[in-house]
Amino acid sequence: MRFETLAIHSAGGPDPATGALIPPIYQTSTFVFEDVGRTRGYDYSRTSNPTRSALEETIAALEGGKAGFAFATGMAAETTVACLLQKGDHVICGDDVYGGTYRLFQDVMTRFGLECSFVRMDSPRRIEDAVRPSTRMLWIETPSNPLLNIVDLEMAVAVARRHNLTTVVDNTFATPCFLRPIVYGVDLVVHSTTKYLNGHCDVVGGAVVTASDDLAIRVQFLLNAMGTCASPFDCWLVLRGIKTLPVRMKQQERNATAVAEYLDCHSRVERVFYPSLKSHPGHAIARRQMKGFGAMVSFEIKGGSQAVPAFLRRMKVFSLAESLGGVDSLVEHPATMSHASMPESVRNGVGITEGLIRLSVGLENVDDLVEDLEQALTGV
Ligand SMILES: *Cc1c(COP(=O)(O)O)cnc(C)c1O
Repeated sequence: MRFETLAIHSAGGPDPATGALIPPIYQTSTFVFEDVGRTRGYDYSRTSNPTRSALEETIAALEGGKAGFAFATGMAAETTVACLLQKGDHVICGDDVYGGTYRLFQDVMTRFGLECSFVRMDSPRRIEDAVRPSTRMLWIETPSNPLLNIVDLEMAVAVARRHNLTTVVDNTFATPCFLRPIVYGVDLVVHSTTKYLNGHCDVVGGAVVTASDDLAIRVQFLLNAMGTCASPFDCWLVLRGIKTLPVRMKQQERNATAVAEYLDCHSRVERVFYPSLKSHPGHAIARRQMKGFGAMVSFEIKGGSQAVPAFLRRMKVFSLAESLGGVDSLVEHPATMSHASMPESVRNGVGITEGLIRLSVGLENVDDLVEDLEQALTGV
């Protein structure tokens, strides 16, 4: 089946008990045993739950992986993956990843003896230089947040294989609609389903897809042992969102392209970050590696931190809010919002400047979105 069909039909067919077309919300903590020592496949909802299984099968099918797992949040998914490692292990992570990923490795996992280096993954040399005898994992985010940098997965996987590293790709921005990391040999895909997969800003959730059965067993063990799983109702909402993922992604990308091209010619805009623009450093790799460029657009406003508050206050169709990936367009200021957990010196080093604005372009009429930007930029 093709992607659009999988998004609708991969949840395992009608409910076996009733024939319900849509998987019911199995809002139960526990399941009655058929006989001593014999279940009907489920025993306790932390371990597994039929609504969660439906979502997990769907995400695994979309990513082309062996097994999927649904978590309470994207960070719960990431924490679980980090716990595949042990005290003394070293992780190489992209240097402009989601602020929460940075915080997890830098401020939390270090307390349990993990070490982490944050590097720009724009050449094999830069990754190689960070490899130590204790390195076990390569954590990649592409396109990255908020600068939309692109990592060449073929290149990164080749380096990882030379050193026996487990590769992880945070595929939240591209979604499997535009990028399927497992095709490039990646071992684990993580998602914040809060974003595009659910797509309606009404759930926080996460997911992991594994490329091998061995990793699937280890992730399921940790999910159950740590209790990081998603609730049945949240899984049901994400499943519902996924059915329209392909149409949402395509239309949001169209809107984002128009917004990026508009901003690119604006006199009050210093620089636009969007991978479809020829000026974007990752344009050629993105063209080759992805089926679409996504719907996140960042830009630097002229006047830096002076201009930001006035601009943000004037935005009307775009709401001033964290998060991304929903049908509602959002605007945010990484330096004080999504990336405030990164120290200023680190932010400056990776290029997250005071004047950087990040847009999550939604499904509104694109003329309303461009007009909103126009009136806000004019007033600054
Ligand atoms: C939001 C986000 C996360 C964290 O997900 P939550 O659902 O908020 O816990 C991780 N990675 C990326 C790229 C994100 O945008």
